[in-house]
Order: sequence, then C-alpha cells, then structure tokens
Amino acid sequence: MPTLVPAFGRIGEENAFAVLARATALAQAGRDVINLGIGQPDMPTPPHVVEAAVKALRDGHHGYTPATGILPLREAVARDIRRRLDVEVSPDSVMIVPGGKVTMFAAILMFGEPGAEILYPDPGFPIYRSMIEFTGATPVPIPIREANGFAFSAEETLALITPRTRLVILNSPANPTGGVTPKAEIDRLVAGLAAHPNVALLSDEIYGTMTYDGERHHSLLAYPEIRDRLIYLDGASKTYAMTGWRLGWSVWPAPFYEAARKLAVNSFSCVNAATQWAGIAALDGPQDAVAAMMAEFDRRRLIVVEGLNRLPGISCITPKGAFYAFPNIARTGWKAKALASALLEEAGVATIGGPDFGVHGEGYLRLSYANSAENILRALERMGEFLARNP
Ligand code: PLP
Repeated sequence: MPTLVPAFGRIGEENAFAVLARATALAQAGRDVINLGIGQPDMPTPPHVVEAAVKALRDGHHGYTPATGILPLREAVARDIRRRLDVEVSPDSVMIVPGGKVTMFAAILMFGEPGAEILYPDPGFPIYRSMIEFTGATPVPIPIREANGFAFSAEETLALITPRTRLVILNSPANPTGGVTPKAEIDRLVAGLAAHPNVALLSDEIYGTMTYDGERHHSLLAYPEIRDRLIYLDGASKTYAMTGWRLGWSVWPAPFYEAARKLAVNSFSCVNAATQWAGIAALDGPQDAVAAMMAEFDRRRLIVVEGLNRLPGISCITPKGAFYAFPNIARTGWKAKALASALLEEAGVATIGGPDFGVHGEGYLRLSYANSAENILRALERMGEFLARNP
C-alpha cells in the first residue's frame, strides 16, 4: 500500500465545508435548515460580468494565457488599487491566481520550512495554520481579541517575532470576526517592523471593499517602507460575488514574483481565460452591484447584532467589516463547537464554532449574514428558543 509523505498528516482543512455538507444533507432529508455558516455572498455575480465571460468564450479566448495572467486584467487590478487605495503598483508586479487562497498557498510555501516560524491571526482563516503546518514550519498564533474590537495588536504581534520568524500574516477586514484594524495600529506595526527587515509579510485584504459605518480600509500597500517584502492578497470572490469562478490577484515584490510565477507554471498554468476577461469587467465596470450588496449586508449586520444581543448569555460587538458576526457565547455555559453542532442538529441553524478558527476562538460562534434578513430573523428566533430550552 503506497503511503503519503508525512506533510499530508499535518494538512488541515476548512470546517465550513463540512458544516455546509451537513446542512445540505439535513435539508435534503427534509429538514428546514437556515445556513448562517456560509462564507460567500448570497447575491449573484453582476450580470455584466457574466456577459463578459460569455463574450470572451464566443470571441475564442479558449487557450492558455500567460501564467501571471493577461496584461489587460493586471492593468485593471493596478487601476483598482490606484482608485481605492491611492497606491501605484506596476501591472508587472500583479499576478492573477485561481482564488485568494492560491496567493496564501504560494506565500506560505515560499517561507515555510522546519525551523521557521510563521505568525498568523487566531481566530483567523483556518487555511493559514493548515498550510504552515503542511510546510513543517511552526505556526505562531497572533491572538485577536474582542477587547481590541478584533483588530490585531501591533505590540502583541511585534513581541512574537523571533530570529526564526520568516513570515507574518495579517488580515483586515477579518474573517471570522469582522474586525477592522485601525490605521494607527498598522502605523505602529509598520514602524516596529523596521527592526525586522528579514521578515516577509502577507496581507490578506480579500474583504478590503467591505467596511461599514464610514470605516475606511487601510491597506498595507500604502507603506512604501515595507513594499519590498509585502505580498498583497485580494480577489473577486467576495467583492463581486464570484467565489465559484476562482479569480484572485496579488501584488509581489520582484524576487517573490518570479517564484510565484514558477509555482504557477508548475501547477495551475493560468486562470481560466474567460474568467480573466470577466475580471476586467468586474473591476472596470459599474460598481453599483457592489454598493447595493454592501447596503444590504449593512442592513442585515445591524439585524444580526441587535438580535444576538437580545439572546440570553450572548453578547456581540458590532463588526466593522466583512459579512460575519462573532458573538461571545461564553456566558451561555456552552462550549462553542458543541453549541454550533446542537444548533444545527436541533434548531436547524448552521453556524461555525469559533475553535474552527483557532484556539482563541473558544467562547465564540461565527455567523455569516450572507442570507436573507427574513432567514436571519427566523434563525435568531430559533436560537433564542433553543437557548431557553437548554439553559
Ligand atoms: N482569505 C480570507 C480571509 C477568506 O475568508 C477567504 C475565503 O473565505 C479567502 C482568503 C479565500 O478566498 P478565495 O475563495 O478567493 O480563495
């Protein structure tokens, strides 16, 4: 019997997919399940983006493209970054990849090896830790605290850096907490990083267009002093409701870019050509669908937070970004994963237990508000009834 290399004993996954499978199975068995576990917008991709893909297929864009992506899309990404973030990047530093995850995968492969330490947010997107462990590097969690509004702390992050630290992963606006890190905190982090010139940075800004209450997104790209070691991660999945298209983009300093290009040549070759043309339409076309989606998420966000704060033993700070709420459930007396599982099986509400996002996620649930306001209200009612029955 052939055996796998040990790295596959260490690789993890995203429990959100298992929750989705279980919720789907329950629904197929006739149960009425409300899914607040899902990490993708419930809106369709804007029609003009779909049309651009259809046109590209009709126009004969059927072959390989350059591994780093077609130039018009790399130029559109550079324009988007200039418009939104007021930062100049060269299209030659932009790489088109099949989803935000692929940038993460490449960056962690570049810096992870036994003996290396990689810092990552906890609670945070579970693939960070999984991939770090896959490479044999040591995962070092950066605690993300409710008391800090779920922003990362520059001081705590800098204090975790050792001579073995090779990469620091940051994420704002954040999954699973909806936290947005204020500019002053990023300023402090960047200032402190001057003392650690050999540490690379991966800034996951996939929710960069998704902030509320007039909160602005502050990109790490805006700091020239770290640009020679910063990998910027973004993509179309969330902003343009395109999770299934697999379209992401990243900005890399030249030496890392070349490594990323080679990884692309050795693995996916290029992103689906029609998807890339659709990406140009998404970035350069009208942004009203994005604005409408954000207005709807904002409305639901307030419904979720208000409803959660009415439930016995639950408190929830108002998230400033993304489309997740991260309520504190410690006072219910439930362990988070047990509560998530009981809510799904007994109340027909799918959520995700905080520990699926790291050890510091105990005591919390993640609720996505990528579901209708009506369903969110029904889910909150069911949660209230469940907690009343199971104090
Ligand atoms: N980064 C974060 C923080 C995410 O939450 C996600 C998706 O949930 C991704 C990256 C991956 O996005 P993609 O679907 O484009 O690979």
